Amino acid sequence: TKTAIALGIDLGTTGVRAALLSKDGEPVDIAACPFPDAAAARLPSTWWNGVTSCLTELASHNSFASLEGVAVDGTSGTVLAIDSAGLPVGEALMYNDPCPDRAIVERIGAKAPLDSPARGTTSALARAIHLSRRPGVHAIVHQADWILMQLGLAVATSDENNALKTGYDLDAERWPDWLEACGMDTALLPSVERAGAPLSTVTARGLMLGLPPQCRYHAGTTDGCASFLATGATAIGDGVTALGSTLVVKLACPRPINATNYGIYSHRILDFWLAGGASNSGGAVIRKFFDENQLKSMTPKLRPDDPTGLLYYPLSAPGERFPANDPAYPPKLEPRPADDVTFFQAILEGISAIEKSGYDRLAELGGPTVRSVRTVGGGAANPAWARMREKALAVPFLTARSAEASVGTASLVLAGKDR
Ligand code: ADP
Repeated sequence: TKTAIALGIDLGTTGVRAALLSKDGEPVDIAACPFPDAAAARLPSTWWNGVTSCLTELASHNSFASLEGVAVDGTSGTVLAIDSAGLPVGEALMYNDPCPDRAIVERIGAKAPLDSPARGTTSALARAIHLSRRPGVHAIVHQADWILMQLGLAVATSDENNALKTGYDLDAERWPDWLEACGMDTALLPSVERAGAPLSTVTARGLMLGLPPQCRYHAGTTDGCASFLATGATAIGDGVTALGSTLVVKLACPRPINATNYGIYSHRILDFWLAGGASNSGGAVIRKFFDENQLKSMTPKLRPDDPTGLLYYPLSAPGERFPANDPAYPPKLEPRPADDVTFFQAILEGISAIEKSGYDRLAELGGPTVRSVRTVGGGAANPAWARMREKALAVPFLTARSAEASVGTASLVLAGKDR
């Protein structure tokens, strides 16, 4: 087997995964440790147990001796308060937890710039401010930052991707002054580096965990950015479509695109900007009508070269955010043909058309024209659907290198290694 050079650790919504990559970016080995249940998934102790289990498993089949770097990605917007010893002060607040204090959200609404990704009901900044008011708090860190500290990094350090929704200013490369007006003591926030930037060589704690002396800690990223990188997409115009419960399109851009009304903001990664939008359409609509077995048996009967002409807009309920922003946007799933396969095909055609509009919208907002698409998620396994989409988008469809966020994070280490 190939020599492992980079280690990427992914703290996802359902568990921890860790990947070793060779110097040419090939996955050498991957370990996984699912969280036992949703309650456990909230506990920093569960996160850390997952990391150590994955490391133990990887170390039992691989040598860490040539590792040059390690980086961590975490769920975007999950934050915790820590004391001066790095121990959690109370519970963490997860990426999808509303801030328990409405007044904080309202104050951010009044004080933050209108285009800030730190605004909104699930604002990471609001959660950070709430946590900062607990007694004995020494710092507020993101999930990925805390794991890197557990691995031995001495100083709380975050990356631009995790810091974005906490209010970090990517132009000025600092925590902006308006954070104080919102009630955030910026002295409690971690220092921030570019995603993938090398930080320091491993400390005694890292050595104890089996990392070799030349290995460096690198600034990490979010699980969403890591999933994009995992596919192998890195060039301007490379698109990644996620066909999961929802439809998400992401595009590597030469400049940032920010359009809060469409829910679009941009992450700086390597030498490009990652912009994306999420539709309310997607696989969840398909699931309302058909189960897994039905999908399996109907898929070979689809006729991608023979469109139904039904022009559906598949939504589970009225309301769309992207590519059109309209809280009352109506679903269109009628007329329903007698034949289920035709109905299924019309839904897939409808989602394909939304995907096409999504890439068109990103271009209209200042992004590049999409020049290739890689696909991830449950719908990626449907070849007839890929054919319909390829016809709609008229660009090459490429195979994703990996669907593992941990592979994307390890590839950041490779990219940041020589900087
Ligand atoms: P999640 O976003 O929940 O992680 P997944 O990536 O696991 O979702 O994808 C699940 C979705 O994939 C389901 O909503 C389902 O509609 C869709 N799906 C599964 N199999 C097929 C298929 N053969 N054709 C089209 N869609 C499919």
